[in-house]
Amino acid sequence: MEQTRPSILIAGGGTAGWMAAAALSRFATGHDIVLVESEAIGTVGVGEATIPQIHLFNSALGIDEAEFLRETKGSFKLGIEFDGWQREGEAYMHAFGAIGRGAGLLPFQHYWLRAKKLGLAKPLQRYSLNELAARTMRMQRGRRAPGSPEMPYAYHFDAGLYAAYLRRYAEARGVTRHDGLIASVERDGESGEIASVTLDDGRLLAADFFIDCTGFRGLLIEGALETGFDDWTNYLPCDRAMAVPCAGGGDFTPYTRSIARKAGWQWRIPLQHRIGNGIVFSSTHMDEDEAASILLANLDGEALGDPRPIRFRTGKRRLHWNRNCLAIGLAAGFMEPLESTSIHLIQSAISRFLAVLPAGKPSKAVIDHFNAQADFEWMRIRDFLVLHYTANERVGQPFWDAVRSMELPATLTDKIALWREAGFIHREHEELFTEVAWFQVFAGQGVEAEGYNPIADAMPEDDLRTLLDGTEAALVEEVRAMPRHIDFLEQMISQAKVS
Ligand code: FAD
Repeated sequence: MEQTRPSILIAGGGTAGWMAAAALSRFATGHDIVLVESEAIGTVGVGEATIPQIHLFNSALGIDEAEFLRETKGSFKLGIEFDGWQREGEAYMHAFGAIGRGAGLLPFQHYWLRAKKLGLAKPLQRYSLNELAARTMRMQRGRRAPGSPEMPYAYHFDAGLYAAYLRRYAEARGVTRHDGLIASVERDGESGEIASVTLDDGRLLAADFFIDCTGFRGLLIEGALETGFDDWTNYLPCDRAMAVPCAGGGDFTPYTRSIARKAGWQWRIPLQHRIGNGIVFSSTHMDEDEAASILLANLDGEALGDPRPIRFRTGKRRLHWNRNCLAIGLAAGFMEPLESTSIHLIQSAISRFLAVLPAGKPSKAVIDHFNAQADFEWMRIRDFLVLHYTANERVGQPFWDAVRSMELPATLTDKIALWREAGFIHREHEELFTEVAWFQVFAGQGVEAEGYNPIADAMPEDDLRTLLDGTEAALVEEVRAMPRHIDFLEQMISQAKVS
């Protein structure tokens, strides 16, 4: 008797749907993959800044970097600048990659904190290759010479073009696409699992497994399975965004900008053909009209259309994997794009799913484990985002006063207490953000550490000075030899293969 191949139906064709389809088409080759999307509904149309882990995804797919940058009109990203987050007029960067050099047992922050007490320390940017390069609009890939420091980077890209690129990739590898509106989702009366979806023209699509990528709607995970939602608005109260692209202008920055505003913040993401902009804000403190006018008054080029409102609720589905349905992307939940983590969360869910890809029916243990990992990952990212808000000194501005005094998750309170005590930062197993990331935000937001590890005192003061000055001089020298971001990008794209 002929064996039927297991089938997976992906509902939704935004960034999440097409990332899932592309990855499954490459790695789940024993399965039939179908994707349904509705052109009438469209996609959320934002989500253009990433973190360096995107390389893992693109390279696992065998994507050529130059072709990808050409096709998505992308640019390079070395970090995120936070402007006005501690106080108006002051900016810091969360740059990717190392800061300074540790010595012996201790990471760099302890030497920097000691040097700060002695009046020898310069701002962190002097010890970060990524930030020095970013601030001078330079870019380099890999190591300049053996022994040179590495410069990790991510991308900015046009989300619509990225989805279209992945669609071509997935369809070329056998994914079947249906354009149509899912009108109903049917469940098996006995098992309660999802059995099929029916489109508004009557087409019925059955599958063994379903991936819900229907965006905020969560048509399968919530609409059909009523999984429930953990609301995190008490920690991250922004609930609206207005987005508008504008013509190119200002610096072609190899970094994302996040600029604090009256009741939220504004993003700036430079692409080859335009700049992506938007403002994320709390509707309790500002209405859409005011947000739109702040946004429009702060663009570097002519607005390409009217600001588009997006409403959201921060939090996550109680279970990302429920029965025979996995939610990915906005269907799984949402945290504001302050640290560009959503696309990463899509990628990480896909790779954890592929690691336990059910040949038949997945066991409860597999599903529970997946959900526990998702909870951990999401909560630790949430804590990192909350730190940016809670540690502000924008006194007298109602929104900022409110977020400064809000109650914090216990996991974050512990992290702040450790840092304050003696510059300790502990990264738990599988946490996304590194010690260096936390260090930069603690320092950038002005969260003072009262001490440092006394082992740092064992270093003679002259050696400490040499460590700091030597690191800075070597990095400045590295950066001086790098090409400009724009030139580097143009040269790379000119070498892209013709497809
Ligand atoms: P969507 O793009 O909404 O796609 C949903 C899909 O489901 C569409 O194809 C739609 O047609 C389909 N669909 C829905 N209902 C039906 C139906 N009934 N029948 C058939 N099809 C249906 N992420 C980052 O990593 N970096 C960022 O800088 C960033 N910025 C963001 C800024 C804002 C304001 C917001 C809201 C999000 C941002 N994100 C960012 C998140 C990012 O946009 C999303 O994670 C990403 O776009 C994935 O969206 P999605 O595919 O889950 O949903």
